[in-house]
Amino acid sequence: MDCSICSAMPYILRPPRNTICVACYEGARTIITLTTNKLDSEKASDNKPSNNLISSSNSTKGFANALKWVKEMKEMEEELNEKISYLGGFFAAFRDQIHTDIQLQPGNNEPSIPAHRALLAARSDIFRNILDSDACKAPPNHKITLPELNHEELQSLLEFLYSGHLPKEKVEKHVYSLSIAADKYEIPFLQKFCEHQMLGSLNSSNALDILEISDTCSNQSLKDTALNFIVRNMEDIVFSARFDAFALKNPHLTVQITRTSFMDIKNRRTGA
Ligand SMILES: [Zn+2]
Repeated sequence: MDCSICSAMPYILRPPRNTICVACYEGARTIITLTTNKLDSEKASDNKPSNNLISSSNSTKGFANALKWVKEMKEMEEELNEKISYLGGFFAAFRDQIHTDIQLQPGNNEPSIPAHRALLAARSDIFRNILDSDACKAPPNHKITLPELNHEELQSLLEFLYSGHLPKEKVEKHVYSLSIAADKYEIPFLQKFCEHQMLGSLNSSNALDILEISDTCSNQSLKDTALNFIVRNMEDIVFSARFDAFALKNPHLTVQITRTSFMDIKNRRTGA
């Protein structure tokens, strides 16, 4: 069908050139609904009298409104990017070791990493308690030991604490140890970051690891997702070599897999 929106050459269409295809129609409806919902929720959460942009939204309809919203989003994105690069100063202080006042010691006697007490205390209540309870005038070469992390993992943890982000290859490599560290040192943002990574990469070869980590970190929703994935891919997972080691180490989780699988088969049989 000739569509005056997505056709390559709409100007050759017959007048009045106002027919649009189903895809464009549905897309336009969705964008407009999204915009309206967005503006309504902003209005509802706004205690102050509505500003000009929002109060005028009733008079502008359809795409004019959507376009306004897109422009606002664009401006907001630019502002946020500036803010992120401003906050990036913390990371530079870590990278260049400017005025560091504490040493973090990984396990296995690997070399320690200098950091800043104030940042650690701001990012984690556990670190704050450790620093509060320590002799508060401890010398700058004073150490906190994190025996469960190796040097590379500790470096990644600190990078995240300073910048709120990690390069993809580091997340992929250290997601399990970082997830456990996030749980131990009570860093909810890192927990969420790791959970997102694990959900995005869940497959037959890592589902058992993710189940184990989610159980260690008491992350029930991640655990349910991993468990259901395992049950739906039983054949690939249960006959893998990894499963033998997993079952020996985690008998309670193996029992849960068996029960969930049994219920799944039962439900399917009763035609649920
Ligand atoms: Zn179209």
